[in-house]
Amino acid sequence: MIYLVEHFYSIQGEGKFIGTPSVFFRFGGCNLKCPSFGEYFVKGKKVFGCDSVRAVNRKLFEGDWQKIESSQTLIDILEDHLQNLDFKPHVVLTGGEPLLYWNDEVFYTFVQYLIENGFIVTIETNATIKIDFAKFPAYKDVIFAMAVKLSNSGDPYEKRVNKEAIKAIVENTAYSFFKFTLARGIIEFNAYDEIVDIVGEYPEVEVFCMPLGDRLDILRKNDKIVAEFCLLHGFIYSDRLQVRLWNRERMR
Ligand code: SF4
Repeated sequence: MIYLVEHFYSIQGEGKFIGTPSVFFRFGGCNLKCPSFGEYFVKGKKVFGCDSVRAVNRKLFEGDWQKIESSQTLIDILEDHLQNLDFKPHVVLTGGEPLLYWNDEVFYTFVQYLIENGFIVTIETNATIKIDFAKFPAYKDVIFAMAVKLSNSGDPYEKRVNKEAIKAIVENTAYSFFKFTLARGIIEFNAYDEIVDIVGEYPEVEVFCMPLGDRLDILRKNDKIVAEFCLLHGFIYSDRLQVRLWNRERMR
């Protein structure tokens, strides 16, 4: 069973396709917690975790989690978003961790539909779940934004880094890329070594570094130091354009 938490049309705010008009599908559930990524007050409770807390914490957001029993439901949602457009936007499958559903029939049939119909599809993943590309070949035409988590996420290394899963993505897809979330603390600590440990074997794969911050004030605290870090090491700076433009507005 797969769960959809929200869907919306906006611009891609991060990574390789920053600025590109895209339809987003945010799926519920994640195999990580990233407790150090922030704190939120939800219904009077303090919750630790990432800016996708709605897609990670089912207990607190039960009402937002829609069961999807047919890929046609996802196709219908997409068609609603396309109604007033005279071009094909990108499609972004995000979460949570959308690859929790990689071998689910409903999810995979939707991916097949998107690829067969000429959409450019990005799956935003923490790259900890290994896909069988031989059995599920439509994934070979997907672009994976591999947002592998570093020690500043608060999850242990063995949970957040799966080199076999990363290798499978890199070896089977053409345009996938890495995207790391950084703040001053980890840059001053060990960010470069941690990144090299993950990307070192793949010099051909682009590496984007993005400042931590789901609010403008936090983003501004981290953006320049991340830009300086990119200049020093030859990584590509990615902003969070959605935060820059709309701050914490939902579904942007
Ligand atoms: S892997 Fe991504 S969605 Fe999951 S908890 Fe971490 S930041 Fe949130």
